[in-house]
Amino acid sequence: MADELKTPIAGLHHVTAISGPAQENLDFYTRAMRTRLIKQTVNFDAPEMYHLYYGTQDARPGSVLTFFNREEGGTGQAGAGAALGFAYAVDPAALVDWQARLGGQISTRFGAQVLSLRDPHGQVLELVADADVGERDAGDWGVFHSVTLWVEDPAPTAAILTEVFGYAFVGEERGTGGRRLRYALPGDAPGRVVDLWQAEAPVRARPGPGTIHHVAFRARDAAHQAALRAALLARGTQVTEVKDRQYFKAIYFREPGGVLFEIATDGPGFDLDEPMAELGQRLMLPPQYEPRRAEIEDRLPPLVLGAA
Ligand code: ZN
Repeated sequence: MADELKTPIAGLHHVTAISGPAQENLDFYTRAMRTRLIKQTVNFDAPEMYHLYYGTQDARPGSVLTFFNREEGGTGQAGAGAALGFAYAVDPAALVDWQARLGGQISTRFGAQVLSLRDPHGQVLELVADADVGERDAGDWGVFHSVTLWVEDPAPTAAILTEVFGYAFVGEERGTGGRRLRYALPGDAPGRVVDLWQAEAPVRARPGPGTIHHVAFRARDAAHQAALRAALLARGTQVTEVKDRQYFKAIYFREPGGVLFEIATDGPGFDLDEPMAELGQRLMLPPQYEPRRAEIEDRLPPLVLGAA
């Protein structure tokens, strides 16, 4: 591993998916899943659409799940070239209670129990029993365990994970209709596990509600992000310039399996434009859209936040 890459990536930063109507998405993730709405904003590239963020009470990187909310609904297709699902780490003793609340099926994967279900718009969502979670307090609920990437050929994706990001191969298991290869980071970073799913049947992903748009990994700081960007460019991977995403700085590239990857910084953070105690309570717009607030609010459906 090159000198600048002796520091592994710090796990997941966020996962961004596409949902159907915002209110149904909000009700499921705040009421059924009990995560906190930490930001109400719009898709910066399409401001007629909500972009809702959920996470732990303190909105920490490694817990952030965001959705582009499509009011017109429709469905996407999970398949090769996109992330298949994301998983939260859950107290093993609470797994059956979660199943009673949410439904879904429990299976065993790499020695741990996993509850698998779908959200109201068809997104694959999992809860993985993790003994470390029992020791955390309730405010810590909502930290990711892992993400699963669906790829036709795992090898080139695995090379990015191990040679650039610092993951190590854990093992392989057969599942229904395919095989799963597990990679993990050293230490206890939130979302330190990435699974690669290789299906027997050739299915290509088609974006839409119920599918994941991109997976964002967490750089330790801007210098780490710059080192990772340089390492990717040196391998011949096309990477974007650093983009200002208001709450963090981000670079993007498509990994060889077709999944859109992002590498994001922690700063400036989700409390940039509203106090931590009030996150998610009102629509926040980036400076370029603030002059159009009335028009934008007019086109968005009103949201009933309820008790989070
Ligand atoms: Zn992102």
